[in-house]
Amino acid sequence: MRAFAKNRPHPEEPPQAASRRRGRSTAVRGETMTIAFIGLGNMGGPMAANLVKAGHRVLGFDFSNAALDKARQAGVDIAPSSAEAAAQADVIITMLPTGRHLLAALEAEDGLLRAAKKGALLIDCSTVDMESARTAHTLAGQRHLKSVDAPVSGGVGGAVSATLTFMVGGADDAVALAQPILEAMGKKIVHCGGAGAGQAAKICNNMILGISMIGVSEAFILGEKLGLTHQALFDVASTASGQCWSLTSYCPVPGPVPTSPANRDYAPGFAAPLMLKDLNLSQSAATNSGAHTPLGRRAAEIFDAFVNHGGAEKDFSGIIEFLRAAEG
Ligand code: NAD
Repeated sequence: MRAFAKNRPHPEEPPQAASRRRGRSTAVRGETMTIAFIGLGNMGGPMAANLVKAGHRVLGFDFSNAALDKARQAGVDIAPSSAEAAAQADVIITMLPTGRHLLAALEAEDGLLRAAKKGALLIDCSTVDMESARTAHTLAGQRHLKSVDAPVSGGVGGAVSATLTFMVGGADDAVALAQPILEAMGKKIVHCGGAGAGQAAKICNNMILGISMIGVSEAFILGEKLGLTHQALFDVASTASGQCWSLTSYCPVPGPVPTSPANRDYAPGFAAPLMLKDLNLSQSAATNSGAHTPLGRRAAEIFDAFVNHGGAEKDFSGIIEFLRAAEG
């Protein structure tokens, strides 16, 4: 892997990037890298911005002009194509919607795999299905690239504040190389196992999240029927055995947790279609592996109905309104 000393301009670095670099904080850990960042959307945009803040040279690409404009303002150097970004990079990060997008970006005739330098490190931070994650590792290995799957938890807020949790799968040497890069974007990095283990952890975690949000919502609806105030139920359950993140950090009724989307008419946050996507990933993984997950399946069905009946633009905690409306 080619690396550049802290603060030293890259030989191919345009002068405006060098002057931007002088005004920003530099990498405090390890080397400064040239990083290709593919997919500069809600998550990828702020993650790329944090790599710039850490002193790395970031070459970004996205199909969306709006995403490119924002990234440019954050100090990302925009490449004409993902291949041209990858061709110069020590590290290639992808943050794309689905496994289909990931494999397309990797395998296209003018895609990342053909363009990447031998020995470069591929870090996929997207949330994708297990098969796509494993395929990405295999394809990378065939091109003599190191690879990790490193999906995230923490949402857009965590991406902006560089406090994401990364769930990482891959060989020890690849994970060790990825570690300082991930630390510039997150606060917790867990090596979950070999290829695909990061995606496995992400899928399992979000199955808990989808099920628990439905459980908490049902408890508030029942409490309303029984004459309990939201605050009373919250005060008990948040310190009793019903305690969970869906209740204490993301409470689906307005009031008890002022930062939760319930206080903003369920504006996302973590949009319901993304929750549905992750629950569907868990169900396809359960089917393929023979795991029996009846509550996961039911949660996927309930979120599917929510998304297709008015919930597509809502935060996933808006499921409580859908469940209330279904009463009787
Ligand atoms: P997003 O739709 O905002 O961004 C994805 C970007 O990828 C878009 O700008 C799109 O134009 C771009 N893109 C698609 N194909 C491309 C290609 N071949 N080359 C270049 N750009 C391409 O999505 P997001 O919210 O940033 O989520 C990204 C991933 O992170 C998803 O897998 C999502 O499930 C996961 N995730 C999201 C959140 C969240 O709160 N938004 C939280 C955790 C994980």
